[in-house]
Amino acid sequence: MKYISTRGQAPELTFEDAMLTGLARDGGLYVPETIPQLSTDDIKAMAGKPYEEIAFQVMRPFVGDTFSDDDFKGIIERAYKGFGHAARAPLVQLDHGHYLLELFHGPTLAFKDFAMQLIGQLFQTALSRRNERVTIVGATSGDTGSAAIEAFRGLDNVDVFIMYPHGRISEVQRRQMTTPSESNVHALAMDGDFDDCQARLKDMFNDFEFRDGVRLAGVNSINWARVLAQVVYYFSSAVSVGAPDRKVSFTVPTGNFGDIFAGYIAKRMGLPIDRLVVATNQNDILHRCLSGQGYHKGETSPSISPSMDIQVSSNFERALFDAYDRDGNAVSQLMDELKQGGFDVSQGAMEVLQSHFDSGRASEEETSSTITETLKTSGELLCPHSAIGVKVANDQPASETPMITLATAHPAKFPDAVEAASGIRPPLPARMADLYERDERVTRIANNLDALKDHIKGNIRQ
Ligand SMILES: *Cc1c(COP(=O)(O)O)cnc(C)c1O
Repeated sequence: MKYISTRGQAPELTFEDAMLTGLARDGGLYVPETIPQLSTDDIKAMAGKPYEEIAFQVMRPFVGDTFSDDDFKGIIERAYKGFGHAARAPLVQLDHGHYLLELFHGPTLAFKDFAMQLIGQLFQTALSRRNERVTIVGATSGDTGSAAIEAFRGLDNVDVFIMYPHGRISEVQRRQMTTPSESNVHALAMDGDFDDCQARLKDMFNDFEFRDGVRLAGVNSINWARVLAQVVYYFSSAVSVGAPDRKVSFTVPTGNFGDIFAGYIAKRMGLPIDRLVVATNQNDILHRCLSGQGYHKGETSPSISPSMDIQVSSNFERALFDAYDRDGNAVSQLMDELKQGGFDVSQGAMEVLQSHFDSGRASEEETSSTITETLKTSGELLCPHSAIGVKVANDQPASETPMITLATAHPAKFPDAVEAASGIRPPLPARMADLYERDERVTRIANNLDALKDHIKGNIRQ
């Protein structure tokens, strides 16, 4: 299995190298050259199987010969054994034909643990046998960073630096990043918003001298291995509600387009998915684009769903690559236009995108009232991100096709917004109840490439 860049100018890589590299050297994102297919019988056989077995079957064809079957099975086992729920990704029913996929039972209470815990084990195995080390630098709107720190803390071959927008993440998110005491993890509170953090991260990757000097590796949602890990729960949940004999639709609270892109990959692999619905908050560039208004950046406006406060959705580039018939030059041109503020999508590409994706948005008030309503009608207490998904799913035209909405974080990760909407302050699960008492360790840093590079060079272990 070979991986190619969405901008067509970077070398083809194996799964292992694409995973360890993150962003391609031409600024693009790695995608598999072909999408492996699972047959109807393969999918049928997943019914009732443990999550880990489904994970092995779905991901195996993408990994090529990077890992032996036994090694890869061990990696998957270790990745998910710290989850607080035996089913890993349990499904609960909200209403007739509407289900909630709970993706928040991992160590940092958000769906990003599914990918990050796997990546931690993949890196550990690959780096120790190569006898190499890397410096992981990540930008986070809150959940990626905590999931990365949790996955890499204490690993010998890795130093981790996570930039987050100072003052713009929840206290639980911050504490999950600032309280681990291992010396290989570094939380950086940067001046600016998430798009600034993401832009500086891209700058570091495009500075080849720095990149090679510190052996930079990326685990942001641009990393293909993260997308891949997320494909699994589309299969596990769809078979629980009757796939492949029956079609299934999904609604996904979306920011960087990674999670919903994993759903698109599941569909391309043969899972009978009817609609993939992108749900955004008031930062609705994707909803505007999928409604035919072009992809034009605005100002990020802070919301009660901070993990979705994003204007530039990195993974959307992967969807554009397919919509433009995998023409790397066309994608490069669009990304150049994006630097000037935005671009319009060609009619042909728009038709491809709209054949897979629908979209909707929720305002702040709608998000809060959905938390209130859903508690009343089903007893489920939603986090604000999941509430956006539920609101947008409820807005879809009536259909016989079951709808699965992804619940992307635990309500206790956003207690202020949840309490304001519902009157209930959601408690942290017992396994992390002392989070508010632990000591914090964080470096405040300017939105400045040189300052960041100096800090990283000065703090990595050689
Ligand atoms: C990251 C995140 C999202 C957005 O997911 P993308 O893959 O970036 O689209 C939604 N909800 C929560 C809680 C998140 O942490």
